Amino acid sequence: METTLIRGGTVVSATGRQLIDVLIDGEKIVALLEPGATTFGTDLAAAVDTVIDATGKYVIPGGVDTHTHMQMPFGGTTASDTFETGTRAAAFGGTTTIVDFAIQTPGEYLQDTLAQWHQKAGGQSAIDYGFHQIIGDVNDQSISAMGELINEGVTSFKLFMAYPGVYYSNDAQILRAMQRAADTGALMMMHAENGIAIDELVSQHLKRGETSPYYHGVSRPWQLEEEATHRAIMLADVTGAPLYVVHVSARQALEQIAAARGRGANVFGETCPQYLYLSLEEQLGAPGFEGAKWVCSTPLRSRAEGHQDELWKFIRTGDVAGVATDHCPFCMVDQKEMGINDFSKIPNGIGGVEHRMDLMYQGVVDGRISLEKWVEVCCTTPARMFGMYPRKGVISPGADADVVIYDPAGHTSIGLGKTHHMNMDYSAWEGYEIDGAVQTVLSRGSVIVDAGEYLGKKSDGRFVRRELSQNLI
Ligand SMILES: [Zn+2]
Repeated sequence: METTLIRGGTVVSATGRQLIDVLIDGEKIVALLEPGATTFGTDLAAAVDTVIDATGKYVIPGGVDTHTHMQMPFGGTTASDTFETGTRAAAFGGTTTIVDFAIQTPGEYLQDTLAQWHQKAGGQSAIDYGFHQIIGDVNDQSISAMGELINEGVTSFKLFMAYPGVYYSNDAQILRAMQRAADTGALMMMHAENGIAIDELVSQHLKRGETSPYYHGVSRPWQLEEEATHRAIMLADVTGAPLYVVHVSARQALEQIAAARGRGANVFGETCPQYLYLSLEEQLGAPGFEGAKWVCSTPLRSRAEGHQDELWKFIRTGDVAGVATDHCPFCMVDQKEMGINDFSKIPNGIGGVEHRMDLMYQGVVDGRISLEKWVEVCCTTPARMFGMYPRKGVISPGADADVVIYDPAGHTSIGLGKTHHMNMDYSAWEGYEIDGAVQTVLSRGSVIVDAGEYLGKKSDGRFVRRELSQNLI
């Protein structure tokens, strides 16, 4: 087995930081050692196969992005990153594990959709990957299959209160799936927007000739996110199921989550960098058809209403449990352009799997969150919440040697032709400058990225069979 010593760096965890060396044997971290440790009187560095100098750098667990959609079918097209291109881009950005979504469409067997997603990702992924299961058709068969999927390492299930006629579940279906989640210990994930009301607003805007991307945001007001979030929390309360609300963008929805947590409910919020940095006015409201680049659901929110700053606050308070990307890229040419005369035909999604660690690190530089909070929301809690801890999300003996060496003195310029490896013809983050940089990325002990160079291969990643979540407050 290859041994590696990461020497001289500051290891950062969710609870603190320490100048300490990391010893890796094969795929695992085996020890944390006082700097300059010796073995039988000789410098340990002389006894290992590889020494990585991390002096002046942060040594953090590999990023865990629990919300991605590689090559996802949507509205007659397919997300432009394959598992191969998307996971390689993730690796460049310091993410070493993703959890993607297998999607059941009505009429399909749950087990069949999971098999399809295994087929897509198997042998293609640069980093380790797991799956959540989307239940698009809650019926006796799919409810019963939840137990089988848990045994196969798929321990979280997502429902939609949006997209009537596609993935939508009504309240009775949500209740039934949640009852099953409560019985089995599975985690219920929810896209919380009132899709029935939204669809009516969409058709009213289109009838008035309001067809530009800006109206995508206007037709999905925060009230309909708050209402659905509250309803999901209440349904979860009734059933006793733990609830994880995905991609929360409205401050009011997070207030509902915070209030529920305040009374002891097992409810968790997720947000994404786009909701922390971007806005309805600046991005969706960009001239012409430009705003299509940022059409995603839930939508970007108004800066005038102050959602972005409030979301940062909810990260600090712990009401946002994890920051994921909802990576779902579509190119402008031929894909986003499908909605040039009708915003409702624009494929929903933003590509960002590559930039999450950097964008959230900028929050540290800007004084919005601590270094430890960065690791907590990007690595540790996602791993814990989704049944991968302590194998992922922590630098500790016995954990997989997924390690990122991050240079606080480095610099990252985001944009096409700069640091962009996602399969897209634009960057949603063009022009963003980050006061830090990913230097080296190890996945299970192997260096897969170093100094901007990719050293891995597409078959490196393995399926992660997840345990039931450790998701109590
Ligand atoms: Zn999503």
